Amino acid sequence: MKLRLHFVVDPMGWFCTSMVLFVWFYNSFFVPKLVLLPHFREGHIPWALVVSYYLASAFCMAALFRASTADPGRLPPDPNIPHSERDQWEMCNKCNMMRPKRSHHCSRCGHCVRRMDHHCPWINNCVGEDNHWLFLQLCFYTQVLSLFTLVLDFCQYYYFQPLTTVDQEAFTARHELALIRTSAIMGLVMFGGMSSLFYSQVTGILTDTTTIEKMSFSSDIGSSNGGSKKSWQRNLAEVFGTTWKVLWFIPLRSRQALTAAHQFRTHV
Ligand SMILES: [Zn+2]
Ligand SMILES: [Zn+2]
Repeated sequence: MKLRLHFVVDPMGWFCTSMVLFVWFYNSFFVPKLVLLPHFREGHIPWALVVSYYLASAFCMAALFRASTADPGRLPPDPNIPHSERDQWEMCNKCNMMRPKRSHHCSRCGHCVRRMDHHCPWINNCVGEDNHWLFLQLCFYTQVLSLFTLVLDFCQYYYFQPLTTVDQEAFTARHELALIRTSAIMGLVMFGGMSSLFYSQVTGILTDTTTIEKMSFSSDIGSSNGGSKKSWQRNLAEVFGTTWKVLWFIPLRSRQALTAAHQFRTHV
């Protein structure tokens, strides 16, 4: 797997990504420390539950890292345009470079991105043809982790047996209620936000329409891509770069476009 890291210089994006990292770190640290590990030690929960939480956390971080550092689909300075595709290309009036139709110029990133969906400050990167699959994975795993967190926070008070061997003088034990409530609020916000984002992303992919095209009032772009005739499996397979559905859930792999339309296409 070729790992070419892509960083966008944008203090606002760094701030937003830091907030996401803080939420992830807070829950990945306090939920096991306050809930999972003490209850596992006292034999109230199986080890598989502890491992599942850490796995959800690891997949979430892997998808975040890859979505924010992957090239979203930047164009090379001098693209080799196949003769048969000439009419599918246009000139960008901001960077004066040739680009395939459906590309957009991102003012935050300062360049054009192939099949750009939107610029996401929370990952400090554009979401385009080459990292859309990673963004979708991030939405999915964030939902899994935040729902898992919410359920555990709930169970801590209403279902699990009281802990007997925990040190009542420890900082985390004295502030347990506040720490768990903070975790539950974060879980609720993340789960609500990510569920609506995931839904709009999936419906966009199934109709082969990007977020920019959905928002655009120019009906010629929207209608030509909207109402995709392809099956849902085909639309998703094109985004993930593979028809192997199990690979749709793996963030640590490289993606190759299913249709080799442009030879300069980068692999992430
Ligand atoms: Zn441009
Ligand atoms: Zn951008």
